[in-house]
Amino acid sequence: MSARILVVDDLLPNVKLLEAKLTNEYFNVITAFNGQEALEAALNQSPDIILLDIMMPGMDGYEVCSRLKSDQKTAHIPVVMVTALNEVSDRVRGLEVGADDFLTKPVNDVALIARVKSLIRLKMTMDEWLRREETCDQFGVMDADMHFLEMDISNASILTIDKRDVVSMKIKEILSCDTDRTLPANTHEEALAVACKNNFDLIIVGDLPETDGRDSLRLCSMLRSEEATRQVPILLLVDEDDVQLLAKGLEIGVNDYLVKPIERNELLARTRTQIRRKRFQDRLRENYERSLSLALTDSLTGLYNRRYANAHIGTTLDRSQKDGRPIALLMIDIDHFKQVNDNYGHAAGDEVLQELSRRIIHCVRSFDMVARLGGEEFIVVLPDAPSQIVLSVAERLRSAMADEPFKISDATTSELSITISIGAAMANLGDETPESLLKRADESLYRAKDSGRNIVVSDLDRNFKAGPGDSAWL
Ligand code: GH3
Ligand code: MG
Ligand code: MG
Repeated sequence: MSARILVVDDLLPNVKLLEAKLTNEYFNVITAFNGQEALEAALNQSPDIILLDIMMPGMDGYEVCSRLKSDQKTAHIPVVMVTALNEVSDRVRGLEVGADDFLTKPVNDVALIARVKSLIRLKMTMDEWLRREETCDQFGVMDADMHFLEMDISNASILTIDKRDVVSMKIKEILSCDTDRTLPANTHEEALAVACKNNFDLIIVGDLPETDGRDSLRLCSMLRSEEATRQVPILLLVDEDDVQLLAKGLEIGVNDYLVKPIERNELLARTRTQIRRKRFQDRLRENYERSLSLALTDSLTGLYNRRYANAHIGTTLDRSQKDGRPIALLMIDIDHFKQVNDNYGHAAGDEVLQELSRRIIHCVRSFDMVARLGGEEFIVVLPDAPSQIVLSVAERLRSAMADEPFKISDATTSELSITISIGAAMANLGDETPESLLKRADESLYRAKDSGRNIVVSDLDRNFKAGPGDSAWL
């Protein structure tokens, strides 16, 4: 895992020591010797993580952290405070200005590397979502700006897992000022079942019946591998001296930890950070999915739109060029569709387009791509389909429309007879482009229209035409 780490400390020997340890693990290290330099480096050199000394003359670490976290451009860079201070009140103060963790001097190597790696993973996930957000922003369909520190954290649902009820009860009591939705579980099995069924904002893992912490780690690992709980943050409770358990936990994907005995304000601060982060990422993901569907699908039929279709044909052609598998494209156009609008109104026309889309989807495989290019023109891209199959699918589509009248909600006529014409083209392996493939399918379609409609015409064999009653070779 390669990443850029900014080390900030006013004392040169401290900087050198951390630099040596990190370089040894192949991290790229940059340094700063006071608060101002740290802020500039954070802004100009985009570090993936910042190790920040607290006691510095002038601007101290709390102030630096607070400024980093209130600037949109640096807010998502994880900050680890490295300090000789070991009072809970100092940690809480750090967490409240947005620090992600603490390391106590002298720094333990195992804890340092485990923590750094886990925070870098977090940063990379966040970067990916922010990049996607930026891309979606270009389509102009994103939400207004969100700010991480302003996420609402109230009423979170939290699962606490510990073999002793008193531990769960204590946690519930401490967290009750933020939420009354804290649920306890005593065993591995119970925890897993409950966690998979509910969408928790946080899971707190303490001791389980099998002692020595290994069962807790097994549970964390399962929570990470289950689809339903993969994204839920985990806070692990560890004993003060169990660095190995902590390192292993972070490696498995635990998001944060709390050293026992549980300290009220620290639990609150760490819980709030995790919930805020979870909700921030959920929002980014929802925005992304919503804007993706707005940008790439057609609102009337729910099919992919032209923009998506063009990109998809490109990637499918690239893949087929590599593995030598055939690709076909069907271009579909409704016959005399204008008359439907003219005779029954635009709303009836829309109903026909929707029903037709459903029938197309019904006739093809799940990995065939169906798109509405616009108006009453559709395409189907069939990867890995030999020409015989392509032609039989096209014929199935044609008859799925022609053989079954369309029902519309118009009071006067409740059934309409609709037919389609289809142009089929097979991609040439080697020099095909999306444009050339679409063009040949379009030429076939033109010939289908020319031959009287309600027919399939293909460029596979210039003689092939299939229509009512003659779905064979002509
Ligand atoms: P052909 O058999 O030659 O394809 O004839 P056609 O009438 O289907 O073709 P033409 O291109 O002349 O007309 C297409 C019609 O499709 C015209 C337009 O009003 C209608 N149309 C395009 N988009 C929509 C839509 O979203 N909803 C409805 N109801 N009609 C649409
Ligand atoms: Mg038409
Ligand atoms: Mg047309």
